[in-house]
Amino acid sequence: MEKNYGIDIWGDGNFIIKNSTVNINYAKRPSLLEIVSNVRERGYKGPLLLRFPHLIKKQIDTLYNEFHRAKKEFDYKGSFQAVFPLKVNQFPNFVNSLIEVSKEYNYGLEAGSKAELIIAMTHTPLGAPITVNGFKDKEMISLCFIAANMGHNITITIEGLGELETIIEVKQEFNMTVVPKIGVRIRLHSSGIGIWAKSGGYSSKFGLTSTELLEAYDLIKKHNLLKQLWMIHFHIGSQMSQINPLKKALREAGNIYAELKKRGAFALSAINIGGGLAIEYAQHQQTKEVNYTLVEFANDVVFLIKEIAKNKKIDEPDIFTESGRFIAASHSVLIAPVLELFSQDYQEKSLRLKEKNPPLIAELYALWNSINCNNAREYLHDALDHMESLLTLFDLGYIDLEDRSNCEILVNLIIKKSIVLLSDIAPSELQRLQNKIQERYLVNFSAFQSLADFWGLKQHFPMMPIDKLNTSPTNPATLWDITCDSDGEISFEDKTPLYLHNVDVTKDEYFLAFFLTGAYQEVLGMKHNLFTHPTEVVVNFDKNGDFQLEKLIESQNIIDVLEDLDYDRNYLDKRLKHQIEASSLINSTQKEELLGKLYLYLSENSYLKTIQAHNEN
Ligand SMILES: *Cc1c(COP(=O)(O)O)cnc(C)c1O
Repeated sequence: MEKNYGIDIWGDGNFIIKNSTVNINYAKRPSLLEIVSNVRERGYKGPLLLRFPHLIKKQIDTLYNEFHRAKKEFDYKGSFQAVFPLKVNQFPNFVNSLIEVSKEYNYGLEAGSKAELIIAMTHTPLGAPITVNGFKDKEMISLCFIAANMGHNITITIEGLGELETIIEVKQEFNMTVVPKIGVRIRLHSSGIGIWAKSGGYSSKFGLTSTELLEAYDLIKKHNLLKQLWMIHFHIGSQMSQINPLKKALREAGNIYAELKKRGAFALSAINIGGGLAIEYAQHQQTKEVNYTLVEFANDVVFLIKEIAKNKKIDEPDIFTESGRFIAASHSVLIAPVLELFSQDYQEKSLRLKEKNPPLIAELYALWNSINCNNAREYLHDALDHMESLLTLFDLGYIDLEDRSNCEILVNLIIKKSIVLLSDIAPSELQRLQNKIQERYLVNFSAFQSLADFWGLKQHFPMMPIDKLNTSPTNPATLWDITCDSDGEISFEDKTPLYLHNVDVTKDEYFLAFFLTGAYQEVLGMKHNLFTHPTEVVVNFDKNGDFQLEKLIESQNIIDVLEDLDYDRNYLDKRLKHQIEASSLINSTQKEELLGKLYLYLSENSYLKTIQAHNEN
């Protein structure tokens, strides 16, 4: 069975399979395995988050290029600008890379809270746009005034009338000539679709209704702020799987824009279409999530706004986007070692064949040894029949436990082999067989910490082994994370099967990679069972095309994790020390030894240490 794990569906040309490994399709095309080995040689165990700034750059380049192309194609007069919404990923190793790779674009940041605003104020180059969305109090609006007076190009997006009143109040208190620019978020009756569609539509948490918009306009005019009012904004939800809801929203927003202009909003010159540009996470054709391309998206946006401007006889507005997922998702790859396979005993070496075996066992063994593509179907059916008979014989007391074990192992091996040999098994039979031989892989990561949307929304993330891709994987796999929660399981699905290799992880390390984890997952991640953010590293490429590992941040150690929960580290320290010293079970040399061990463990992170590979020599 040829398996590329759908890399041609979700990979976007970022990765290639070369020899037997997954390689970065960039520079000297290093394999993920090389990079991981390099980090692990430095002593870092557990899951690893790799960040690739060149993939952030690729997304930003693509976004700007497509919009510039569409503008040219439709002879569009307004400009195209973009900001990155910080809520999608606020981690410094991401944000610093983002700023670094986007220098040529005047690319800005969007903030939705005070803390995010501080990131934006300290990381956006002066002049690049900052937009501030979400609910705001007086302090947050004051921060916007401070930013404006530092020289930042900052826009407050008004989400409700109260915020506008606060802006007026703060303006009077600050009494400075420079005032932030103003945008209004409009509440559309169109809404997105899919699991993230709650941001648009009448029931949305955000935005002004038509009535409120008219009131806001009057208030803005009365307080002499019309020259600040330059943008209208909407956002119909994340991961838009289809383009139609956006088109509807654009028509609605475009007409609201034109109406406000006609009313006298003379400085109004931009439409901010929010985010929502989707990413293809599917590994199978039948579960594809996105039905449009970026080319189509850019064309539709530019064309529709142009048409409305023409009909309403107004200038073509600047177009703003706040795409987050599209920019960030592909930049990080989570790599996690497999710790154990739970049915490893179904291996040839576990057989306990006797001098003289029951005839059906001998027959199974012969089938296993001579199965090939010509006889596979017949042998498979024979094996399944024999198993039924052998289990009955066991129940009746005619064969012993060793015979039964031999039967299970041999049938398991025969099924696996025939799935590989037979390319035309009927789906229903395949399903039955897969369920019989499912293998559970214990993986050293936390789904709660690293794939939060899988846990919360059943969002699928592409996953595959990073090695052994020259051999066919034979095991239908269910993944277990190391939390002791049954929700931390990615179960085998008949319709979208994940096959992994049959490996002995005590001899040979086996790593799984989870892709497209760069958007939302990191900050949504929970410390369930106190597993924290994995060790991360930025992978850059030098002039020669060699990869360089930079800015490595190790996963928090145990004592820091506890301190973060507000445990007093001195108390923990004293208690542990005291309990060892006061123990009457051990002598003083042993006490020292235990203390030494204890401190070592406390200084390490809480992920499991991979089972050490046996040295070959
Ligand atoms: C979340 C959000 C975005 C980003 O959405 P993506 O789907 O990640 O592109 C943009 N704008 C606003 C207002 C948001 O709330």
